[in-house]
Amino acid sequence: MQDRQLYQQILGIGAPWLVSRVELDLAAEEVHVYLGHEETATFRCPECGEVCPLQDHQPERTWRHLDTCQYRTLLHAELPPTRCKAHGVRVVRIPWAEPYGRFTALFERLVIDWLQAASQQAVADRVGLSWDEVHGIMERAVKRGLARREAEPIPHIGVDEKSFRKRHRYVTVVSDIDRGRVLYVATDRKQKSLDGFWPTLSEEQLASIEGVAMDMWEPYVNSTQQHLPNAEEKIVFDKFHVAKHLGEAVDKVRRREHKELRAEGDERLKGTKYDWLKGRDKFDEKGWRAFCRLRRSHLKTSRAWAMREQAMKLWDYSYRGAAENHFRWWYRWATHSRLKPMIDKAKMLKTHLKNILTYLTHPITNALSESLNSKIQWVKYTARGFRNQANFKTAIYFHCGGLDLLPAI
Ligand SMILES: [Zn+2]
Repeated sequence: MQDRQLYQQILGIGAPWLVSRVELDLAAEEVHVYLGHEETATFRCPECGEVCPLQDHQPERTWRHLDTCQYRTLLHAELPPTRCKAHGVRVVRIPWAEPYGRFTALFERLVIDWLQAASQQAVADRVGLSWDEVHGIMERAVKRGLARREAEPIPHIGVDEKSFRKRHRYVTVVSDIDRGRVLYVATDRKQKSLDGFWPTLSEEQLASIEGVAMDMWEPYVNSTQQHLPNAEEKIVFDKFHVAKHLGEAVDKVRRREHKELRAEGDERLKGTKYDWLKGRDKFDEKGWRAFCRLRRSHLKTSRAWAMREQAMKLWDYSYRGAAENHFRWWYRWATHSRLKPMIDKAKMLKTHLKNILTYLTHPITNALSESLNSKIQWVKYTARGFRNQANFKTAIYFHCGGLDLLPAI
């Protein structure tokens, strides 16, 4: 029969497997392809490869395959189990699908490719599967990819939190800064969230870590100190996180001062919140000149702003001693400023200074690479369909893990 040969070729199926019959169900718009094997075929134990006698065939199984001419195409076969002396009864390995899969490898490849570019719901609608079925393909792809990972050296890692769905629900994300990929995702942002990461590394990988960028967040610090040798020389508190803290302090000073000025009918600080927080490059010429005039008008907020600018110069130094001198000078200025928010932050920076200055040895920050960040945004954007964090984590690994996701066959 011609259609049998045609399907044998399309499916790329060779001896001992053959297409025994093809049925076309016009009403249901389905093609059913029945596979069998030659009577004299020998099969090998999937575990050790020994040629083994066969058991009775198992009940028929069905796999969804790529559509043929827009007809849903299903493969059917009864698989023979082998009886191995060493491994007992095992179902034979088949060339069109992974063990226990309900889709052919080619079909899974198609879904995985589409998932890179479209949401799970869009892919589910397109191929006529449920959201859960598509997510199952994604989960298997991630499992496959994680199992294939090699224990490469990872000199620079970043530990960060990402909010999930509602505020105050977090996942911890560990990334490989040099390769721009996510290594590990865990629920919450507690010490035990990060504790789970370290055992996933080989001893050599652990020894290869030179710097760990993170926020000044005690649970992460504690976990790193407990698991990473010489952690005190490797933890690098993130520059942008420090900048954010100082920005918050500047804003507090501004709010209080604005209230005081307003009581005297002075509206100078009205609507200036973001001017004090954004960088020079975010102003146009006219805006910058106006801001400079405001800054020169003897405001407490101007002083707080200048303190923040000076503190950020710490990251420009090459030598630790010079940076420490700069900090001592800055610290005295800030703590004598009589601006409470600045005094508080200055004390916080002093406590953490040692691991802020590790930046001079390991110039790393927690700012994810552009492409990784946009992928995480994409995952968050399409996360509306995620009922739980497990699904969210799977999607982060899928899109950001740099994994080899496709079935091997
Ligand atoms: Zn065996």
